[in-house]
Amino acid sequence: MNIKKIRNRGILFTFHDLGIPTNVYIIQGDHYIYIVDTYLGPDIMKLVNQYIEDSFGSKPIIVINTHSHWDHVWGNSLYSSSFIIAHEKCKKYMEQDGLKALEKFEKYQKGQVTITYPNLTFTDKILFEEDSVLIYYTPGHTDDGISVLDMKNRVLFAGDNLERPIPYTMSKDLNQYMSTLEDYLKIDADIIIGGHTDCENKDLIRDNLDYVKKVISGGIIEIKSKEFEEYHKANLAWLNQ
Ligand SMILES: [Zn+2]
Repeated sequence: MNIKKIRNRGILFTFHDLGIPTNVYIIQGDHYIYIVDTYLGPDIMKLVNQYIEDSFGSKPIIVINTHSHWDHVWGNSLYSSSFIIAHEKCKKYMEQDGLKALEKFEKYQKGQVTITYPNLTFTDKILFEEDSVLIYYTPGHTDDGISVLDMKNRVLFAGDNLERPIPYTMSKDLNQYMSTLEDYLKIDADIIIGGHTDCENKDLIRDNLDYVKKVISGGIIEIKSKEFEEYHKANLAWLNQ
């Protein structure tokens, strides 16, 4: 587990149990502590809770799920008495696929996972005005994706919409993905973090956008690494299904 402070009120936890880095992001608001994504289970999130309590004392917690995939929601088990915010499609997908994913990938769970659904869903956006935290709909990697903008610190947490070296396109609506990425370029943020990335800047958005545009237009895609090739093949297989 790596812990990195981001400006004066963000903390980025990065875990490495899955062979790729996976992030949980914390924003210390004046009113609430926001926990963005809950990784692989309650045991690991207990460590995050302990860190939060040691650093900030006991403030009410708000959990946010950027999308429904299992590597971002299994720690919800620990927060059933808090608000768990997600897009309404995220809850729907968890209801459809959550148990199947748990069966399939159960060896990765950290502690006893009980699939715990979001209990506060939205379609467009939720603004925590006094904390300057905006949660808004950003379909892309999947069509249930949401992002969290810390407007005070100008930090965007984009979930799996941003990836290195290229995005995973698991929604077939690439035009929607393109407009989400174009919109990211316009927002007032200069630290950009994805569900599996390091601390990035808008160059990553530009790179990911360039790739998505080329897939849409059928343009020539230069394969830059083995990893790039694997991701790209997986994307094409998914899109041609
Ligand atoms: Zn992921």
